[in-house]
Amino acid sequence: MIQELREFEVDNKIVQVSEDYNQCQRCNSVQLWDTEMYWQDTMGDGVYHEHMEGYNAVCDDCFHTLKEDYDWGR
Ligand SMILES: [Zn+2]
Repeated sequence: MIQELREFEVDNKIVQVSEDYNQCQRCNSVQLWDTEMYWQDTMGDGVYHEHMEGYNAVCDDCFHTLKEDYDWGR
């Protein structure tokens, strides 16, 4: 079976990866969406991350950076 490819723009270059991947909205890195990213709950049936305000999906690194900034900013 041929896997579908998704296109992302990284550093002004188009990269193609399988559809198992998605892009971090904060640093534009391409990550496995299932295990390497955090998703904001917009449907009310999961965890709403207050420190992810403004983002729908971020990578692990950005998630923790945002959390630290959020905790320090209070
Ligand atoms: Zn990121």
